[in-house]
Parts: sequence; structure tokens; C-alpha cells
Amino acid sequence: MSQRCIVSDPFRFAAEGRKISGTVPLLRLNRLADILFRSEGEVTYALSGDVEVDGKAFLTLQASGALALQCQRCLSGFEWPLALEAILHLVKPGTPIPDEELEIESSDTIEAVADMDVLALLEEEILLAMPIVPRHEDCDAPHPEGGADKESPFAALAGLRRDSRAH
Ligand SMILES: [Zn+2]
Repeated sequence: MSQRCIVSDPFRFAAEGRKISGTVPLLRLNRLADILFRSEGEVTYALSGDVEVDGKAFLTLQASGALALQCQRCLSGFEWPLALEAILHLVKPGTPIPDEELEIESSDTIEAVADMDVLALLEEEILLAMPIVPRHEDCDAPHPEGGADKESPFAALAGLRRDSRAH
């Protein structure tokens, strides 16, 4: 069973107010699955397009699910509820992103590339939404000897996030 996960023309998708939604197994999101404590389960997503009164086209991406993360304090797994909503302003590919856009936390700017891969976008947004150092909200375990943080894939992820969201 294949599902359609490509938006051939994001501007048109937005202009026509289209919507797509679906469910994807976490295992299909390779980069994400690699850093999860367990990669069973799935993510439900919805992408909708719209145009603001000033003519700016944007996409709204929503996703929910339960991800198994590894607590970086006690190293056991725990369930992290994913509930993200990202507002993504579309710009033509190659358009420099104005500085003020970067400072608006509530929205991002993405290039409206042809044949946009919705699952790749979904994965990217989930990675950005995840806690940099996942841990139980209330974790009593002593920190393991030897600094487990250093070898954690989450440390690498945190670095990536700093690079891509450098303000
Ligand atoms: Zn813990």
C-alpha cells in the first residue's frame, strides 16, 4: 500500500487550500527511527495549504504520535507524546530568507521546491520538536558513571539543531 507523500507544486497546493493526511510507521522515517529507543509505532500527520490575506502562501503541518525516547539520565525508555504544529511559509527556491523571519519562533520559512517530499519534511519537523536531552520529567535515577551523554545520538542531534536554527 503506497500513499501519496509528494506535493508536486507547493504554491499551488497552498493556493488551492488543499490538504493531505496520513499515517506513517516510524520505521519509514530512517533518521528519526535511528535515534528512538524503540522504533515501533506510527505518526499521524496532516498537511494543509493556505494563503494569508497579504498573499503569503504557507503550509501547516500537524503531527501526533507517541515516540519512545531514551531518558538520558537513567537510560531507560519512556514515551514522549508528539504533538506538533508547524507553520511553514513558502518562498521560491533560492530566495534569501529575511532576518526577521528567522526570529519569528512560531513560523518557519521553507523553499517551495517542486515535488516536495512530505515525509522528509515531517521527519525534519519532528526532529526539531524533540527534546534536545530527553529525560523523564521526574527522574530519580542517579546519572550513570562515565557520562553517557557523550555517546548519545541525542548529543549529535542537539548539534544539528543548533546549526540549523542558528539565530
Ligand atoms: Zn529517567
